[in-house]
Amino acid sequence: MRPEILYPLFADLKTLPGVGGKVAEHFVRLTSGSRLLDLIWHFPSYVQKRYRVENLKTAPVDQLITCTVTVLMHHTPLGRMNKRKPYRVDCVDGYGNRLSLVFFNARQDYLVSQLPIDSQRVISGKIELFRGQKQMTHPDHIGLPGSEADWVGSEGIYPLTYGLTQKMTRKTIQQALAHIPELPEWLSPELISKRSWPSFKEAILRLHYAQTDAELDVFSPARRRLAFDELFANQLALGLIRRHHRQKLGTPLLFSKVHRQKIIDSLPFALTSDQNKALAEIDADMASPQQMIRLLQGDVGSGKTIVAFLAMLNAVEAESQAALMVPTEILARQHYATLKPWADLVGVRIECLTGQDSGKARAQILDDLKVGKIDIIIGTHALIQGDVEFQNLKLAVVDEQHRFGVEQRIRLVSKGTNCNLLVMSATPIPRTLMMTIHGDLDVSFLREKPANRKEIKTALLNIQKIESVISNLKQALNAGKKAYWVCPLVAESEDLDLAAAEQRFKDLSRIMGQEHVALVHGRMSAQEKEKEMQHFLTGDCRLLVATTVIEVGVHVEDATIMVIEHAERFGLAQLHQLRGRIGRSDLDSSCLLLYDRPLSPTAEARLKIMRETTDGFRIAEEDFKLRGGGDVLSSRQSGLPPTHVADYFAHQDLMVAANELSASILEKDPYLNSVQGKVLRILLYLFEKDTLVQMLVGG
Ligand code: ADP
Ligand code: MG
Repeated sequence: MRPEILYPLFADLKTLPGVGGKVAEHFVRLTSGSRLLDLIWHFPSYVQKRYRVENLKTAPVDQLITCTVTVLMHHTPLGRMNKRKPYRVDCVDGYGNRLSLVFFNARQDYLVSQLPIDSQRVISGKIELFRGQKQMTHPDHIGLPGSEADWVGSEGIYPLTYGLTQKMTRKTIQQALAHIPELPEWLSPELISKRSWPSFKEAILRLHYAQTDAELDVFSPARRRLAFDELFANQLALGLIRRHHRQKLGTPLLFSKVHRQKIIDSLPFALTSDQNKALAEIDADMASPQQMIRLLQGDVGSGKTIVAFLAMLNAVEAESQAALMVPTEILARQHYATLKPWADLVGVRIECLTGQDSGKARAQILDDLKVGKIDIIIGTHALIQGDVEFQNLKLAVVDEQHRFGVEQRIRLVSKGTNCNLLVMSATPIPRTLMMTIHGDLDVSFLREKPANRKEIKTALLNIQKIESVISNLKQALNAGKKAYWVCPLVAESEDLDLAAAEQRFKDLSRIMGQEHVALVHGRMSAQEKEKEMQHFLTGDCRLLVATTVIEVGVHVEDATIMVIEHAERFGLAQLHQLRGRIGRSDLDSSCLLLYDRPLSPTAEARLKIMRETTDGFRIAEEDFKLRGGGDVLSSRQSGLPPTHVADYFAHQDLMVAANELSASILEKDPYLNSVQGKVLRILLYLFEKDTLVQMLVGG
């Protein structure tokens, strides 16, 4: 159970005064959460200074100022029809300098009451020059004399979303901050003083009330303290999981690999040497009395599925069962279709279980699974539901593992006794980050591409050439090819992203013919998405327009063209994942990266790397180097698990330190039962490792 001291942080944000209904919804969209804690993790992105100005003559343009003025007169826009003309209020400072306040779509009665003629008012906002005159559009503050002091100094500026203002966001977050409890310190006094770090609470407050950009920086003591906490919590969690997995000695499995040989003989291709090596490593693990916890790391298209299947046959030959869990329905069905003929060939029973299955069909599968009539089961999260039981599960495989939480992985493994675990990932990770992200899993790599693959041709093209791209694409589609068209993110607003994608979809539908084009985006339900994907898969539709949602491992073998609009806005990992959707057969494939100028040096470097290589590991290393050099893209675009504060690139030294500290603590106190261990549990709950703590150490 979550410690009581943390309850205030997990309270619903609707409990804050003035936050309800629509406003609450906006905050949920902003922070992807509905609790005070989610607000607290939403930090300002930079600090803005507001200067006090007495003489407007010296007021800096494009800066925020606060000043006392006298209202001279109101100019109502002429003609009620002309809505676009602004409402202007002329003011003057104590030195005779004029300033107009400008309002669009103004409500006159409101402005007259706020700014009565001849009154003195304190105003605050950005000074702009318009036709040589100083003006201020929509002041942030209009108040009575005496309110200047509240409107000077520095303040952090928060990233916003549609429907929220800076003022509202700041006020709400500050209300949430007032609920942070005094938490016991989980770091040792020596560590704290050696690093000169503030306490957890103090660090949070320092970031939200930062007065300079340096205080907000990834290298500031406050941010490093919090980053350490986050990395430390992650390392403790990984350490607990490892201990959990390694604890019990299993029974070594006995398998003859007769089935495997039969399958290999039937394949139209030979396994690559990396595939063979990975299989040898898996075999050794499964035949040993230790439980396997292995990561199979290989780029998209490197052939992880067959490796997983052959590993699952080991379990079947050892008179036990195997399960393959994938993140989406469509992937489950795809894998089932691929594996069924192979399973039939060796007389192994394979079934598929997803959220779609219900009633009798589901009950039948559950019964058969329980008595061992099913050898291999493929499925989505449906596999980890409480009523799913195996007769004897000995191998759990998790595909696209970054889409699953650790608890889900553990849940699946817990369906068997001494069950082996194989997780598969297509996100290449630089060596230096391996340990942080995956803990100390054993790793098998598939670096080699299967031999029949053609290199994907990648070209960079200025977006001004988009019309010729479209006409070439039309020819290609007419010739029977299939293509993806990826629309970019417009950073601040999901709504804008969607609008842009919808517009592009309309244009392309008109040009290519409506029946040939489909659209998928993040706002669609999983079912809607999969329906459209299915159209694309079966070939009714030849062009799939998408926001980045197509990243996940969909396999449409005959899709050979990928156009990425505004490729300069994507991270390297993302571009690589996207490009991995094509080049999945022996057909020629091409990827067009459309970019817009001006290009930052790092954006240019990213695009060049994409043109130069398709090797995911090399791309990951280059990405890492570019980020070390201060690439501005957020870590969200790195393809790595998301964090609240820690930056995989800037906080590498902290990762190493967090790993060492957690190892030494778990060595002495493996169940976190000591006094200090109990305090560490608070840290784990704070970073929401709830399920883990409950399952692994109890309490
Ligand atoms: P991923 O690693 O992305 O999951 P898949 O397992 O889906 O890749 O493999 C992609 C395609 O490559 C499949 O059609 C698979 O049959 C094929 N494949 C796998 N191994 C080889 C190989 N050694 N030679 C040729 N094709 C292969
Ligand atoms: Mg795959």
